[in-house]
Amino acid sequence: MVQKNLIDGEWIAGSEAFRSINPSNTNDVVGEYARASADDARAAIAAAKAAFPAWSRSGILERHAILRKTADEILARKDELGKLLSREEGKTLVEGIGETVRAGQIFDFFAGECLRLAGEVLPSARPNIGVEITREPIGVVGIITPWNFPIAIPAWKIAPALCYGNTVVFKPAELVPGSSWAIVDILHRAGLPKGVLNLVMGKGSVVGQAMLDSPDVHAITFTGSVGTGKRVAAASVEHNRKFQLEMGGKNPFVVLDDADLSVAVEAAVNSAFFSTGQRCTASSRIIVTEGIHDRFVAAMGERMQGLVVDDALKAGTHIGPVVDESQLNQDSDYIAIGKQEGARLAFGGELLQRDTPGFYLQPALFTEATNKMRISREEIFGPVAAVIRVKDYDEALAVANDTPFGLSSGIATTSLKHATHFKRNAEAGMVMVNLPTAGVDFHVPFGGRKGSSYGSREQGRYAAEFYTTVKTAYTLA
Ligand code: NAD
Repeated sequence: MVQKNLIDGEWIAGSEAFRSINPSNTNDVVGEYARASADDARAAIAAAKAAFPAWSRSGILERHAILRKTADEILARKDELGKLLSREEGKTLVEGIGETVRAGQIFDFFAGECLRLAGEVLPSARPNIGVEITREPIGVVGIITPWNFPIAIPAWKIAPALCYGNTVVFKPAELVPGSSWAIVDILHRAGLPKGVLNLVMGKGSVVGQAMLDSPDVHAITFTGSVGTGKRVAAASVEHNRKFQLEMGGKNPFVVLDDADLSVAVEAAVNSAFFSTGQRCTASSRIIVTEGIHDRFVAAMGERMQGLVVDDALKAGTHIGPVVDESQLNQDSDYIAIGKQEGARLAFGGELLQRDTPGFYLQPALFTEATNKMRISREEIFGPVAAVIRVKDYDEALAVANDTPFGLSSGIATTSLKHATHFKRNAEAGMVMVNLPTAGVDFHVPFGGRKGSSYGSREQGRYAAEFYTTVKTAYTLA
């Protein structure tokens, strides 16, 4: 059965369909999905525009109930939805279920936020005049998401958009439509009025572009690559629309001589290789001071030997497959580039055969890398990391910050002085001390700086900054 797009409250088949394939087993078709056209995208935008006046004035209890119901259903179905996610994206079942739970928690959080909408009342600078500051929804929000977090990223954009009274046109990544379809189905059945949330699955160059080109999309929230982010920015400036970009990373993880070795290795392995290294917050630059370098590299090698790379759904798998063939080729190309640049491939990097045909890659660790090499400067987006040897903390911090990106930054140390200094001076939106660079909570701000992000933060109460616009009203008493 072909899963359809949702436009103006109706499930629409369209003229074309596409298949989603399981990267752990390319013989397994996860599902068939209707491919929306540019006209479908325009119809979805018109529906969202028509639905906005009523939804923006809907009662907070109605919004609360729909988001609450959605959270409850996602959490009740976490095993089934987590399995679907792992089948379509290739992260392990534990990771797939974990991400699904996080999506449920996000809807739960924003169900609560609907009941906490607040403004401010201030005296004017002039006598007998009062000033009220309130937040209002923006209008039609376009949501464009990447493939690597198929349920959490849609959740952390859709939930606040609806909570604050906006209507939505949502375009998920073509590789992973299943989880997106599932949450739209849940929200639809939870009682959203027609047109409030529209799903248009399909190609970025067609459906996404139609969203960028429409003057009726009042805000776009985008997560994906730097290249597409720049297109979103240029088109949004053209239309004078609000936009928010979350893009790539080249996140550093610093290991100092005084680190607890097992804490450092655990955090580095998690940062670099879990979720197959396909996280914007993954660490692919491991910056290690001289005194611990050799011990750290040896311990990493030992730990990496114990990592099981296999079918994402198999019990005991630590690392699932790469998402598809083109990403696998990109990872392999960077492994070849690293060798050509003179880094030493210390562990892994081979393509693996398993019981089923899939995109299996042994996590790769380079040593003797410098921060000038392409493997240290460009986002690889796979299970490939490079160790850069440095003299001391000062050099480690300088190397950590010497990157065009600024999403997440981590350090392993037992020194309060260095941990405190690093938290203050890391040029990143998120800093982790003795923790992996990836793995963030659902109720606090998420985002970066420099080339990684543009606009206000996502998640937690900070999401209101993007999904609302502020009004200042003056009244003569
Ligand atoms: P991508 O840029 O190729 O695609 C992202 C989305 O944009 C997809 O839905 C795609 O269809 C759409 N798109 C493509 N062309 C478009 C166009 N012309 N107009 C409008 N939309 C278009 O990115 P991807 O490969 O899906 O995701 C991987 C990237 O996402 C990595 O760079 C990763 O770092 C980044 N990412 C960032 C974060 C973060 O929060 N910073 C989180 C996850 C992923």
